[in-house]
Amino acid sequence: MDKLRAAITEVIDSGVLTNDGPRVRRLEELLSQAVGASDLAVCGSGTTAIQLACAALGADGREVIVPAAAFPAVAQAVLRAGGTPVAVDIEPTYLTIDPQAVAAALTPRTGAILGVHTFGCPADVDALRSIARAAGVPLLFDGATCWGISYRQTPLLACGDAATLSLHATKLMHSVEGGAVIGNTVPLAAEVRRLRNFGASPAGASPAGTNARMSELHAAFGALVLEEAESEIVRRLAVRKLYLDALRDISWLEPCPFRLDAGPNVAAMPVRLVVESPFDAEALATALLSHGVHARAYFAGRYRMRHIQAAGQTPCADAAARRVMCLPFHGGLTEREIGRVADALRSAPG
Ligand SMILES: *Cc1c(COP(=O)(O)O)cnc(C)c1O
Repeated sequence: MDKLRAAITEVIDSGVLTNDGPRVRRLEELLSQAVGASDLAVCGSGTTAIQLACAALGADGREVIVPAAAFPAVAQAVLRAGGTPVAVDIEPTYLTIDPQAVAAALTPRTGAILGVHTFGCPADVDALRSIARAAGVPLLFDGATCWGISYRQTPLLACGDAATLSLHATKLMHSVEGGAVIGNTVPLAAEVRRLRNFGASPAGASPAGTNARMSELHAAFGALVLEEAESEIVRRLAVRKLYLDALRDISWLEPCPFRLDAGPNVAAMPVRLVVESPFDAEALATALLSHGVHARAYFAGRYRMRHIQAAGQTPCADAAARRVMCLPFHGGLTEREIGRVADALRSAPG
């Protein structure tokens, strides 16, 4: 905390509070180095990161294929970018966008495929890449929660033609509020820097522009949190282990599987109600709240995306909405607190 206070004071004393200041550029350099990506621009949130990436990829006026079970920010960002989200089903095991369903939903109007690495679990990157290449459309991944996670020895954020990151305070790596766009096969950073600042350029202001800047205060905060990211990963791995022990005897609940060759599994603690369960994830989250436990059913209830167009049936996404929820998860959780979550789960259904 002392370090944070000193950093904030330093920003205030510098007289530069926002508008592409040196701390924003410094954070961009630090994040680029860590991901091994040369093309990276930060912005105001993970949501505007998706929006600006879609705009920079030319999805305006086009269909963007998204998973039917996803945080609402995904479809909202596509809409704000002037695209039309088209929802397709997810894979039953890993809860990530189903490549078969993506292939079936392609039309001449498709402007991009937008996969989500759900709760940090990689989407089927290889299958999606083949489909996107064959169709000649860009492949974008929402890697909002994927800081520090690799897939087959490659940082997950380096997968796809482009990827986005959230730097919100609930994520492992954050700047209180913030986000980033990473151009992997196509350079996007320069365009994202224009778009986050009203799209202003010598040729005029782009309609796709908005105010999605990051302030110097947020950037300074981010640089300090980054120093802690590695130790937070270690703490979270220990917390996951404690959870797995604590949940072992709850037969109606199972931790969501993580794709092989991916790790560390440190973004979230998603669990799934087994099929026979008589109650749904939303009801369980509400019951847990009465025990002071903040669990979230991210695909249901208040988070369910209304009025979204779907291509075909989405039975796996519908099942995930009924059965998947995330338990409280961060490196500061103690064994006692995790025990309290497990106790609340045991008493919640009754
Ligand atoms: C957190 C999150 C977002 C939104 O990020 P913000 O920084 O809160 O705007 C988008 N997608 C996923 C998968 C997320 O987890």
